[in-house]
Amino acid sequence: MWIDHLETIKIRRKEGARKAVETKRKKMAEKNKGMAVENAKVAELHCICKQPDDGRFMICCDSCDTWFHGDCIDLCEEEGELLEDFYCDACLVAS
Ligand SMILES: [Zn+2]
Ligand SMILES: [Zn+2]
Repeated sequence: MWIDHLETIKIRRKEGARKAVETKRKKMAEKNKGMAVENAKVAELHCICKQPDDGRFMICCDSCDTWFHGDCIDLCEEEGELLEDFYCDACLVAS
């Protein structure tokens, strides 16, 4: 379900949508306090920093479908929204 969400929404444009996700996560965290560590271990890792989606702005490479934190690739959210297609450094080098 979460994967589908990531694939259909390339760039999270809406602040409201993000807040909804954060709220949902907080509720889940409260519900499963004991599970929090377990969940962190299995969290899907993304980006060049190999960290999970932590709620920061992220963008998906249109070629390899890898997600990157805006911070890690020096791309701010405003710039990301202007891009129709985003390709990561690895894909740009390969092309
Ligand atoms: Zn990163
Ligand atoms: Zn790529």
